[in-house]
Amino acid sequence: MAAPYELRIYGDPVLKAPSTKVTAVTQSLRTLANDMIDTMYASRGVGLAGPQIGVRKQIFVYDAGDGPHTMLNPEIADAQGTWEFEEGCLSVPKLYFAFERPRTILFRGMDLDEKPVEFRVEGYLARILQHETDHLCGTLILDRLSTEQRQSALRTLRMREAT
Ligand code: ZN
Repeated sequence: MAAPYELRIYGDPVLKAPSTKVTAVTQSLRTLANDMIDTMYASRGVGLAGPQIGVRKQIFVYDAGDGPHTMLNPEIADAQGTWEFEEGCLSVPKLYFAFERPRTILFRGMDLDEKPVEFRVEGYLARILQHETDHLCGTLILDRLSTEQRQSALRTLRMREAT
């Protein structure tokens, strides 16, 4: 199956822009969520946020191994501990960085039934939820790196652009 959306890649200004809250779950929003899930799987990702397909809405999809989920208007309400893990991003292709994020989070958001959700998670799932929530604030993994990691990543990206 072809991906219904083309991925936006680092350098596209939409990735740096904050997204607006979803106020109502319409049929077109449900279709968007399904298309995003298809795009995520076609790209072999574990998460995909609105801006990554050029949609500035607070929506992301993810699959931490138990099937696809959609979250709206996410918020990291609390964060504890630290965990270093190697992380990548579909919008920063083929670059992986080991860096720290909080290990445990209290996540809040809204589901596709317009119901508020709140849960505390840790480890890999907490990592995905933080990464995707970052996207909706215009934050990329490059913004989370040490100065040294970031400079090296930007050099690689510039070299790719030049070829
Ligand atoms: Zn990403």
